[in-house]
Amino acid sequence: MRIALLLAGSLLMGQDWPKTIFEQTEFKQTSTVADVKTFMSALAKHTPGLKPYHPKGAPTTTETGKPLNAWRLAATGRDPLRVYLNGNIHAGEVEGKDALQLVLRELAQGKHPQLRKALEIVTLPTYNADGTDALDPRNRTHQPNPAGGVGPRENAFGLDLNRDMMKAASANVQWLLAMYRDFDPSCIMDLHTTNGSYHGFHITHQASWGTGGDQGLSRFNRRMLVEVQEKLKGQGLPTYDYGNFRMDKDRKPVAWETDFASPNLTSNYPVLEYRLGVLVETYVYLGYPERIEANRKFILEVLAWLAEHKDEVKAQQQAARTRWTEAWKQGAPKLPLKAEPEETEKATIDLVEPLRDENRRYLGEKNRTTLVLPSFVTYKDMDLVGVPTGYLVDPAYARRVRPMLEAHGLKVLPGSARPKGETILNFHETERTISKGAYQGVFTLQLKGSWKQEPLPKRAAYPWTNQDLDQALYVPVNQPLGRLAFYLLDPRSADGLVFWGIFHSSLIRGSGMWGDGPRAPIMAVGASAMEAPAGAPVKGNEKHED
Ligand SMILES: [Zn+2]
Repeated sequence: MRIALLLAGSLLMGQDWPKTIFEQTEFKQTSTVADVKTFMSALAKHTPGLKPYHPKGAPTTTETGKPLNAWRLAATGRDPLRVYLNGNIHAGEVEGKDALQLVLRELAQGKHPQLRKALEIVTLPTYNADGTDALDPRNRTHQPNPAGGVGPRENAFGLDLNRDMMKAASANVQWLLAMYRDFDPSCIMDLHTTNGSYHGFHITHQASWGTGGDQGLSRFNRRMLVEVQEKLKGQGLPTYDYGNFRMDKDRKPVAWETDFASPNLTSNYPVLEYRLGVLVETYVYLGYPERIEANRKFILEVLAWLAEHKDEVKAQQQAARTRWTEAWKQGAPKLPLKAEPEETEKATIDLVEPLRDENRRYLGEKNRTTLVLPSFVTYKDMDLVGVPTGYLVDPAYARRVRPMLEAHGLKVLPGSARPKGETILNFHETERTISKGAYQGVFTLQLKGSWKQEPLPKRAAYPWTNQDLDQALYVPVNQPLGRLAFYLLDPRSADGLVFWGIFHSSLIRGSGMWGDGPRAPIMAVGASAMEAPAGAPVKGNEKHED
């Protein structure tokens, strides 16, 4: 009885806050989906304003039935900035998931009243829920791990969830896109661990640089991270822009560079919806507790910056949206088919020489050399082309493609609503590359060519009729998220539905298929696209380490 009273007393005084599984096990176990749920449910009991969150229309589980458990922490002030925090997308990179629980507890404990006042937060710490529960000490053995092991990189289908934003093939990304529509966050943070780069930064980070996003907003996004970097330097935490060493032929480092502009990455996609994004990459060779601590500090510092600049963030988002609308008033805008890293500055970077055992397991640092290198950490637009007023998608594909487009927030109209005075254009292909190997389960198709009024040289087995045009899906590019319409539907996009194989049965005629192929599945509307030169080749986006 007396013990019970004492316990109740300490609860009331707020001294009995829940402990994470890694605190309970002295860092021998990282959290499972159930561990996070237990912790967050206990935290919610102490915390008015912290509740489970389910976006309208989103899947509630992964395809294997693992729950997608998210929580929403209301702001204590009015008109907050909304922020989304994503953990464990690669389930071997566990410290983000674990740090998020500490961050939420500190916010609940009232340690950061300014953040609570200015920010409303949604978090899904176990985003790759399949992988979160597939803990095994044999995963990612090159990094210092909790004894109970970490998860695999991909989901149960072998899909990399950090390459899925555009094709949205996973329940997880469908959840994320539904969250965008429902919660409308201004900033998204995606938490990772590097795979094996030898620099001395405890955290590297990248702003949202998805190809074709508003450059001004990406540069503002990077300014935030540079200012956070300065703050953290003062606290003894070395951070810098995400990248890796470029080596010359003698394996001597000559530059620091990133090449990571595909919108299919979780942290790059947001700028295409006029949101900020942050890729967080924790240094793989720190110990597991140190990686959690570096994440905790970094997340809190970004949140502090966002809280302090909340009105400026909203104004920058609005300015970027307005630039798009204004561009249409000057005639149709141009968009790049690719983005390339540009030299941003000279940077001082340590090159670490690691000490390893016979199994290549990291033991520590042999030595480190400080280098001053040209640093390529911002992007310039390349291969600009005029964009059409809109695209017409073959009605035969409507059942599959309409939900994909609408998940991305695009307005989809009937073909009969297309602007009647405008030219209908055919895509004249000049070159194609079908990937030799499968990537994310797809033999990808990269097309080059241009939009022309002339009919296509080859007869189609099902030519477009006026009725087909009227029944097609009409997707205007001249709409608020029109940039996404371009990168999803233009056949030259390095990250669109053509690339990801959605139209393969129309576009790729294998041996044994005889007779004329069907009509082209996508047409364009609008003379502005006609001046477009043939697209330059676009590099694949498979060779990154995050
Ligand atoms: Zn990763």
